[in-house]
Amino acid sequence: MPRARTALHFCYDPTGERYGLPTYPWRMAPAGLATRRQLLALELRPGQREPVAQILWRRGRRRAYLYEIAKAKPKRIPTLAQLAAIERALAARRTCTRCGTDAGYCLPRRWDGCPACDPAGTVGAPAGAAGHPIP
Ligand SMILES: [Zn+2]
Repeated sequence: MPRARTALHFCYDPTGERYGLPTYPWRMAPAGLATRRQLLALELRPGQREPVAQILWRRGRRRAYLYEIAKAKPKRIPTLAQLAAIERALAARRTCTRCGTDAGYCLPRRWDGCPACDPAGTVGAPAGAAGHPIP
């Protein structure tokens, strides 16, 4: 019977010989590296840096890129004007183009307006099912 294939078998490649990027299993990455979300928690961002390593888990089916903490840049803080612009853009996506009501959620672009305005009642049906051609 062949030996069981472990996380080390699939996910340990510190030289990058197999994956082209130094690769570690879950929880085995060296210190000084962090994922994008870990950088964000430190109020940092990768900047223009490429990842220097990766973590693979679930037999290599899941991947997270690692960046050097020392070379990360400070997180950019949006200005009030930028936040206002985002809010306006999201409001536009929530607003029905036909009746102008705010649906309270972002309306899918394939819908023709809000559920109340969709005359064919195609909301919830697959696109193209009731006369709405797939774009
Ligand atoms: Zn509407």
